[in-house]
Parts: sequence; structure tokens; C-alpha cells
Amino acid sequence: MVYNIAIDGPAGAGKSTIAKRVAKELSFVYVDTGAMYRAMAYYLLQQNVNGSDPEAIAAVCQGAEISIEYRNGEQIVLLNGENVNAYLRTEEVGNMASVSSANPRVRARLLDLQRGLAASQSVVMDGRDIGTTILPDADVKIYLTASSSTRAGRRYKELLEKGEACNIEEIQKDIEERDRRDMSREVSPLRQAEDAVLVDSSDMSIDEVVSALIKIFHEKTGN
Ligand code: C5P
Repeated sequence: MVYNIAIDGPAGAGKSTIAKRVAKELSFVYVDTGAMYRAMAYYLLQQNVNGSDPEAIAAVCQGAEISIEYRNGEQIVLLNGENVNAYLRTEEVGNMASVSSANPRVRARLLDLQRGLAASQSVVMDGRDIGTTILPDADVKIYLTASSSTRAGRRYKELLEKGEACNIEEIQKDIEERDRRDMSREVSPLRQAEDAVLVDSSDMSIDEVVSALIKIFHEKTGN
């Protein structure tokens, strides 16, 4: 039996941390779709594409072959055959991903890959349009969110721990701008699917969110 769990929500809601933990507990595969959009963004930046030129994005994105491999349970994103995981988590790549992911040609290139991964194995897949577009028949759909100040605070802490200089007001502004773009784009905007369960993690610990999701999974599937 193959199960699909879809987790959508805005930037910094903790989707990847939570999805990874839930996948581990259930022995499912974790699929990070944001990393695929980030790999595409990294490619566009390498090709010096202007983020405000949708035609250039549509043309250049055809040259990016993105695939996924799993090594020791970790998702490796391959861009034209090269492991690009190390380059994906910067603010520059995240901001470009938020712009370029609004492009229909970019989304079309990643849709089949994402559906293919969920067809043959049980997955926890996180992103923005998993419950609404990629896996509309997912067994469990979660819309994971938190206030923008909570999300900015978490991101700030993460960057400090990595030793990167940052400013919390700027991070919050960036997060709000990214939310606005993700929610207002024409193709696959970020929104809660009608049958998704809303989880607001503002005042919850990681363990509490993971337990809540596992409980929802058991309730929905009777497993
Ligand atoms: O989740 P993450 O911050 O890694 O995603 C980077 C960007 O990719 C997001 O801001 C969003 O615009 C885009 N994205 C998307 N659809 C997804 C996953 C990510 O549009 N399924």
C-alpha cells in the first residue's frame, strides 16, 4: 500500500523539518519540492537570467535537467547530473526560486517528476501546491503555517547558528514578500486545499507538530 502525505504552507513554517521527521517515523520517503525549485533557480542565476524577465526564464529553464536520488535516506538534487544540494539554501537562491516558480514552464518541468516520485512509494511531500495540484488525491493533506514574526524569528536563529550576518526586520520583510508572491501568482498559488487540515505551529514545539501530524495520519487512514 502506497500512502501520500502532502504538506503545504508558507516559507519558514517548518515544513521541511516536520516533513523529514514524520517521514522517518513512518518509514516513508521525504520529498522536498522546494529544493527542486531552488535547483532551477540556482541554474537560472548561473545563466545570468533576469528574474523579472518571464520569457527568458521560460526559455532558459528548458536547459535544466533536474532529478532526484536518495543516498543514505537523504534527498540529493541533481542539476544536469551534478549534486547541487550545497548551493540551494541561500537567501539569493530562495528569492530567485520564489520569482521563477511563478513561471508556468518552470512548474510544468517539475510536475511530472514530483508525481512520479509519489506514485511508486509512500512519501511525505512538502511544498506550496502539493495538496491542491500535484497530489490532489493525497491520503493526508496538511496546511502548516505560523505567524510571519515567528517564522522570521526561526530563520534568524538558523542563520545566526550558521554564523551568517542577518537582520531580523529584513528577514521578516523578505518572508512577507515571498508569501505575497507565492499566494498571488496565477499558476498553482499557495493556498489551503479544501480538505487540508490547518496546523498553526506558532506556539507548538517541533515534537508537538510531529505528534499532531502522525495522529492525523492514523485517523485519516485507519492505520
Ligand atoms: O520551500 P522553499 O523555501 O525551499 O521553496 C523555495 C521557493 O520555491 C518558494 O518560495 C516557492 O516560491 C517555490 N515553491 C513552489 N512550489 C513548491 C515548492 C516551492 O512554488 N511546491
